[in-house]
Amino acid sequence: MSGQASADVIVVGGGIIGTTLAYELQKRELQTVLLEQGQIGREATWATAGIIGPPTAHSLPPHRAKLAELSEKRYAGLLDSIAADSGQETSFLNIGKVLVAFTEEEVEEAQARVTWQVNHGFEARWLERDEVHDVEPTIPDDALGAYFTPQGGGLTGHRLTETVADAFRQIGGEIREYTAATRVLTEGDRVSGVETPDGSVHADTVVLAAGAWTSFLGPSVAHSIPVVPVKGQMIGVTPASDGSRPQHVTGTVSGGYVVPRIDGTVAVGATLEHNGFDKRTTARAFEHAIRLMAKVSPGLLDAQFSSAWAGLRPGTSDDSPIMGPVPGYEGLWVSTGHFRTGIQLAPGSAVLVADAIRSESRDDLLVEFGLERFS
Ligand SMILES: Cc1cc2nc3c(=O)[nH]c(=O)nc-3n(C[C@H](O)[C@H](O)[C@H](O)COP(=O)(O)OP(=O)(O)OC[C@H]3O[C@@H](n4cnc5c(N)ncnc54)[C@H](O)[C@@H]3O)c2cc1C
Repeated sequence: MSGQASADVIVVGGGIIGTTLAYELQKRELQTVLLEQGQIGREATWATAGIIGPPTAHSLPPHRAKLAELSEKRYAGLLDSIAADSGQETSFLNIGKVLVAFTEEEVEEAQARVTWQVNHGFEARWLERDEVHDVEPTIPDDALGAYFTPQGGGLTGHRLTETVADAFRQIGGEIREYTAATRVLTEGDRVSGVETPDGSVHADTVVLAAGAWTSFLGPSVAHSIPVVPVKGQMIGVTPASDGSRPQHVTGTVSGGYVVPRIDGTVAVGATLEHNGFDKRTTARAFEHAIRLMAKVSPGLLDAQFSSAWAGLRPGTSDDSPIMGPVPGYEGLWVSTGHFRTGIQLAPGSAVLVADAIRSESRDDLLVEFGLERFS
């Protein structure tokens, strides 16, 4: 594709965040073009553990709790909608989650999580020490108890994103893979499109949803978009057919999980590393994964090692997404910074931003995520 082209909206970045947003915009009858510098869903969205479920909102600021709640309630609707538009079902392992408490502090934290979730209409309960094995037999005996929800489970991030992309195409959206936005184009104080190596694409509205790379697009509008890459490494193991395999997403209250996947493997991780754009897998990640398996699901230590991978989460200084208009440029928007919960938060984020672009007004919840908070 070369030369000039135009649309109502250009979304830059084909991870879960940009693709879901492009779909919601097209649903609102805005002709949308999605630009992806590589392939759809192959960066953080590919590396993800893909855990979704009731929000851990008791420890979050209220606006983040609301976004998580909105997303959780919207997930089933999104999956139904993309199934109807694409003709494909998204495989979702609806297996629930068990988080083990090994210290009194973790017991308190887990019980607070149960209380918040039950009060907000989610299914969750505290498992006493002698109940833990009945629910998840692979957990070792030294657990003091565990948080349990039968809701949620694991999705394969890139498969979900590919299905959203198919649904988007089916309703008239356009995707250009291997097409990087190299610069935001402006006319005075308005955005007019983006430049790509294949020519310009014009639109009155541009949304930057390029994950950990979004900050690179700020300088073309002399605006800082404070997103940094936070590396996460995981390993995959394949239990023998008669070997130990957790039945739920199983982790510790303070972080780290083993995630059974649809292909029979179990994903283990993830690390949190500030190493710039380095995506190498390292021996240290194995050490991290082995310690985690020994703690929550020791039977997995006999499983066959199958793969190791890394991805770059888009991080922000307050761990909250950045969503809303870029001040100073009419028509320029951003949606990124979803850090460790982009798969979980994608449905609510897409609806909030798409509604704001369609109606040209932000609701109060979206305002809380604005870029203005950094100035
Ligand atoms: C190991 C790991 C485990 C995780 N586990 C979970 C979990 O269990 N649950 C959960 O909810 N979240 C989890 N996350 C976080 C989640 O994966 C991310 O928050 C989410 O994938 C971010 O999506 P994104 O679309 O913003 O970014 P990305 O998926 O990185 O997509 C950004 C896209 O923009 C493209 N791009 C960049 N620059 C340009 C440009 N100039 N022009 C065009 N395209 C461009 C990139 O190629 C990329 O495809 C995990 C992440 C990691 C790494």
